[in-house]
Amino acid sequence: MAAVQTFPSVCPLDCPDTCSLSVQVVDGVVAKVRGSRANPLTAGKICRKVAVGLPGLVHGETRLREPQLRRGKKGAGVFEPVSWEVALDTIHTRYSEIIERHGPQAIVPFNYAGPGGLLGGGAMALRFFHRLGASGVLRTPLCAGASSEAYESLFGDVPGIPPEELADSRLIVIWGNNITVSSLHLTPILRRARKRGAKLVVIDPKRTRIAEESDLHLGLVPGSDVVLGYAIAAELDRLGALDRAFIAANAEGAERYLERARGFSLERAGEICGLALDDLRMFAELWSDVRPAATIVGVGPERNRNGAGGIRAAYALPVLTGNFGVRGAGVMAAHSAFFPTRADFTCPELMPEGTRELNILDIPDHILDHELSPPIESVFIFNHNPVAVHPRQHRMREALSREDLFTVGCDIAMTDSMAYADVVLPAATHLEYADVFPSYGHQYLQRAEPVIDPVGESLPNSEIFRRLARRFGFKDDVFTASDAELCDQAIDWSDPRIGLRSASLLGVDDVIDLAPSGTATIFRGLDPDTPSGKAELYSKALEDSCGEGLPSYRPLERSHAFLLVSPASDRRTNSTFGGVAALDEETAVEMNPEDAARHGLESGRRVRLSNQQGEVVLRVVVTPAVRLGTLYVPKGSWLRTSETGQTINALVPGHRTDLGDGACYNDAQVDITPLRD
Ligand code: SF4
Repeated sequence: MAAVQTFPSVCPLDCPDTCSLSVQVVDGVVAKVRGSRANPLTAGKICRKVAVGLPGLVHGETRLREPQLRRGKKGAGVFEPVSWEVALDTIHTRYSEIIERHGPQAIVPFNYAGPGGLLGGGAMALRFFHRLGASGVLRTPLCAGASSEAYESLFGDVPGIPPEELADSRLIVIWGNNITVSSLHLTPILRRARKRGAKLVVIDPKRTRIAEESDLHLGLVPGSDVVLGYAIAAELDRLGALDRAFIAANAEGAERYLERARGFSLERAGEICGLALDDLRMFAELWSDVRPAATIVGVGPERNRNGAGGIRAAYALPVLTGNFGVRGAGVMAAHSAFFPTRADFTCPELMPEGTRELNILDIPDHILDHELSPPIESVFIFNHNPVAVHPRQHRMREALSREDLFTVGCDIAMTDSMAYADVVLPAATHLEYADVFPSYGHQYLQRAEPVIDPVGESLPNSEIFRRLARRFGFKDDVFTASDAELCDQAIDWSDPRIGLRSASLLGVDDVIDLAPSGTATIFRGLDPDTPSGKAELYSKALEDSCGEGLPSYRPLERSHAFLLVSPASDRRTNSTFGGVAALDEETAVEMNPEDAARHGLESGRRVRLSNQQGEVVLRVVVTPAVRLGTLYVPKGSWLRTSETGQTINALVPGHRTDLGDGACYNDAQVDITPLRD
């Protein structure tokens, strides 16, 4: 008789929802994954990719089960299994040579947001690299850096309203967030609000599923958000609909902001944004007439040259209309600030003074820079698949192909990036170790214990770096802490909202609500944590540092016929699940019917997307959901799905956002060439 057991767990993927899970295990193998009701927001529902794909991610053919050394050409994926001892000895020997010749900063930890738990996310790893003296890495430019800088310029690090409050909003503005894919659990709350009469506005270049349900869909040209925000602000001023008393008490630089906004009439905005004048008037009237209003801004609007400016202009509207203070009014953002995460958890004090910090987007250029001092002699890739997710894929592959670069890879699967590693270390999945989970989309603190043993010889990230630390002779207590001790160290459990002595006292089928009714949020008990203590529509700090005191609009220099948007997919979380057979459907390019007719294309036809950087061949799906002149291809595909050996990231340019020095995925431009089968 098979042993069937069901365990509680938590989904830690790079997704705001951080769902509570119920995992059925049969004879030590994950058989079924469903949502559990422990988390009241996610309430038993999870996305298809985790329900369908997680068993394959844990036990499928791409799963790494043993340490390996490279035996083929870099990128070819030819490896030989070795023991953990040999793998760790190899790293120790090579790192010792590199440190002797170039110093420890020649080694770079190349990680991003694989698992979002506080242990899996890399606490022990960062302790190790800080103690080693490796280069520091600024990771936010890859995603959400421009959004964070935009938010912080207005409000500082102060949380907005929790998601449940949307049910009490009368106007809900979803700006650049395809919530049915990227924030699944907002949908039922919005529907409840709509039943109670709330108006829903969706701003998105694509007519997404939630846009179909809206009262007003503004399908603007990608990258023109800042113009829309300015034009609505100016129109509200013209209508006398600004909350002058709120502005006087709580906003900094409103007059300067409005002066620039007046340069964007509704007519001009209609031309730049590609929107109908009547729709713009309706949006302004909704802001004028309906309150309380809640604004939700996704990361979509940040992924272009005007990214932070667009988000600042979106957040300016609730400030200018004084939409704060009552339930259902405000901005739904910055939920990480609810969590009493310990700032010293990664032991930043171990990092030697003067350690350089490299922008994660610059790492391929630095690897190939012969003048860089100290040079990059090794990258340690973990919780990251840079070949699949960075802009300029060709440059990343060129960099990782450098024959004398010593690359260590640590992952749960043989990804496109692991194929370039000299040493591959098999990591355990989040179902195989204990962890503590904050969220960036809600306020519920959760915890999980392992539900199965580590698959093969894989080990949790914490244990891998514990062993590496031991191999390097790091004996401090911070390197010998057990996972249970790490869970205790991750969070301030004595916070009055938690009131526990240790992590283990939080049940694995329980959550702690860190924002119960009455919790202070922005302008409801908490002032903005900005230099002026007000919402800074004009930021002197940004003016002084980069001339962006006010948001700017920069038109895109056109070089190709189509704009190419690469949004989140409902089949992957970034590149996670890319190698899972159950989700491995063909990636397609979505195109407007008029564009398709002009090029003689119909659904199913193969087409080449190309620019000066590369080319990708895909099949066309013709749909009126996308704008004229804009193509949609979901991000995160793996190379093996592509007949050109490149994925969509090969077409993404290298220029940066206005703030945060971030990636401009949606400034990609391509031409298309119809192909025959
Ligand atoms: S990816 Fe997001 S929606 Fe899906 S199970 Fe994980 S947290 Fe929930």
